[in-house]
Amino acid sequence: MSATDRIARVIVNLALDQTFDYRVPEDLAAKVQIGSKVTIPFGKSSRDGYVVALLGTSEFGDLKEVQAVVGDRPLIPEKLVALGQWISDYYCCSREQATHALLPSVVRGGRVSPKKQKFVRLADNVDIATALEKLGTRAPRQADVLRLLARNNNVSLANLEKTAKVTESPIRALEEKKYIVIEDQVQARNPNASVAVLPTQTLPLNDEQADALQMVNDSAGKDRRDVILLYGVTGSGKTEVYLQAIQACLDRGEESIVLVPEIALTPQTIERFRGRFGDIISILHSHLSDGERYDEWTRINDGSVKIAIGARSAVFAPFRNLGLIVVDEEHEPSYKQDRLPRYNARDIAVMRGHFENATVVLGTATPALESMYNVEGGKYRLARLNKRADDALMPTMEIVDMAEVAMKEGRPQIFSQRLTNALQNALEEGEQVMLFLNRRGYATHMQCLKCGFTAGCDECTVRFTYHRQVDRLVCHMCGETRTAPQTCPECNDANIKYSGLGTEKLAGAVKGILPHARVLRMDSDTMTRKNAYREALTAFRAGDYDILVGTQMIAKGLHFPNVTLVGIVFADLTLNLPDFRAGERTFQLLVQVAGRAGRGELPGHVIVQTYTPFHPALMSAAKQDYDEFYENEIDARRLLNFPPCTHLLLAQFRGEQEQAVAGTADDFFRFLTAHLPDSVQMTPPIPCAILKKRGSFHYQILFTTERIVSLSRYIKQVLGRFKKPKDVFISIDVDPMSVL
Ligand code: ADP
Ligand code: ZN
Repeated sequence: MSATDRIARVIVNLALDQTFDYRVPEDLAAKVQIGSKVTIPFGKSSRDGYVVALLGTSEFGDLKEVQAVVGDRPLIPEKLVALGQWISDYYCCSREQATHALLPSVVRGGRVSPKKQKFVRLADNVDIATALEKLGTRAPRQADVLRLLARNNNVSLANLEKTAKVTESPIRALEEKKYIVIEDQVQARNPNASVAVLPTQTLPLNDEQADALQMVNDSAGKDRRDVILLYGVTGSGKTEVYLQAIQACLDRGEESIVLVPEIALTPQTIERFRGRFGDIISILHSHLSDGERYDEWTRINDGSVKIAIGARSAVFAPFRNLGLIVVDEEHEPSYKQDRLPRYNARDIAVMRGHFENATVVLGTATPALESMYNVEGGKYRLARLNKRADDALMPTMEIVDMAEVAMKEGRPQIFSQRLTNALQNALEEGEQVMLFLNRRGYATHMQCLKCGFTAGCDECTVRFTYHRQVDRLVCHMCGETRTAPQTCPECNDANIKYSGLGTEKLAGAVKGILPHARVLRMDSDTMTRKNAYREALTAFRAGDYDILVGTQMIAKGLHFPNVTLVGIVFADLTLNLPDFRAGERTFQLLVQVAGRAGRGELPGHVIVQTYTPFHPALMSAAKQDYDEFYENEIDARRLLNFPPCTHLLLAQFRGEQEQAVAGTADDFFRFLTAHLPDSVQMTPPIPCAILKKRGSFHYQILFTTERIVSLSRYIKQVLGRFKKPKDVFISIDVDPMSVL
């Protein structure tokens, strides 16, 4: 801090979008920096806040003094403070909300006490052979413990008990004999320490990979580093490029962030990173305990790790010398946060790279329209990997017209003859199969054949899905469940029909045509336990199952060399969503899924069952022709004035009284009609596609503009002045993922 900077501008931990100026007393001058957390007098009490700027003068007179500084170094690195400001402008939220996004709540909340654990080690000078001899055969458990410690000294007591399969008493007995020492140790909670990983070697790159890596490394030498779209078909070796680019960063003394869509779903990718970089990597799982999260955050903030890998919030990892941000599967909708502030971590990565002059690599086999559009507009550079790195063949894909099948068979079928034959074939050859259906549960609705009653949730305008295993009706919106009725709740008739297809029924149907197949079902119903996902995948990879049935949860980042057949049972589920991105989602899903097949020596085949076989997105996917898909899709978007050719802003109104919600939306619309600039288009308010969710009614207004930042600023201002009933809430979604 220079001698003239004596004023700290502070954002206070309150829901006010305002900053306040304070004088910095002499004795704190060295410690108060941008990003510091400080305690300041506020009204009659004192509060904590964050310093967002240091100034020589303030336009306010008679300033109070900063009382204290929290911690040894700023909680928010200076450049992240600037990013926070940008988030608040762009995503139309308060600075306080933006600040919340920057820091995990456990860090914002204050200190978590370091965790002490009992550790066990061999006593100094103990001779194992003699000790074992003395124990003889009388104390086999104690002998086990000693042998374990001889191989692996200094382990936690809990861990030791688990590995040696003993209670505490034989361990205490050894302590009494002075063979071992038990002591308290303060330990950084490293949630990954227990998982062993094999180191991986750097692979010699093929020409395409080498060119891509060169482009990434060259960017580091530039005054303005690049954003690079790494568009490589599945299996083209993108991950190896990331790994080597990160190594180059480490060599330059720079730090890297790797974003993955959802960390629990990408265990194999994570293991490759840990295998290469070991301890200098911090893995930010979503199910870390508060203590673990605090420790990981601290390890990054104090510079003891150099690489952070995690889902979207990892983009805010508090590095100070960031060289590279990798966004893997950049097209994934899960990068968009569905809570406030509704940011897209991919776009934040690009902005952070801009503020901190870090290279940004967006990797994908199916670029988001936005990203390819930015390549065309010259904003991003493009690196292409056209062939698979392991020289495996690209899978082949065929489309089966289910309408034709239904006509031939006299009624709709779950499996076409083509898929049935292919399934039988694969199983006879001892190969594995994956079947995808993007809907869980057994039957999608329950209907009374006599009076026509259908069971739906009271809190949501959503029909119940029947889950047979638990014999319950479940609302997929709010999770509400109830016992499945035996007779119609309206007319008491027993003639109830369950129809529609979910993964649970599909798994049963597979058994119907292949009674001996070993079928594993994976969806969010069966994968509720903590390690269920990892265990299931391991079992499948080990060949304990023949067929994996699942939702698209299983479509991501997995390598199963023995899978030769992938079946998409009902492609229309994603295709028929009433959303402008439905075609894009379908294309992405199919290409991702196809990438799962034939990763070993065996070629893969994909069968897509659909009722709309001539949909352009499907046809391009079948050819795995992204360029064709992009050309068609971008034309349509341009014609309809949809992103990426323009920006959207969605204002949603929500409340328990439908009248009030609709009325507020109308008022807002009328309020804006008079003032809105010509460059913005606005739809009149309409009910959302799902009107009632969790007991609240939803209405929306959609804005379209090419100048999103000025629209955001404008809407934020308006929201500050607009009068609305207390029990109606307005939320703003900038660049929404869908406009349902
Ligand atoms: P992607 O991330 O593009 O889907 P991966 O990085 O997972 O592709 O690579 C697919 C497979 O090819 C992996 O098994 C990987 O080990 C292998 N691979 C990647 N690069 C090379 C290379 N240069 N030489 C040999 N094998 C490679
Ligand atoms: Zn519900």
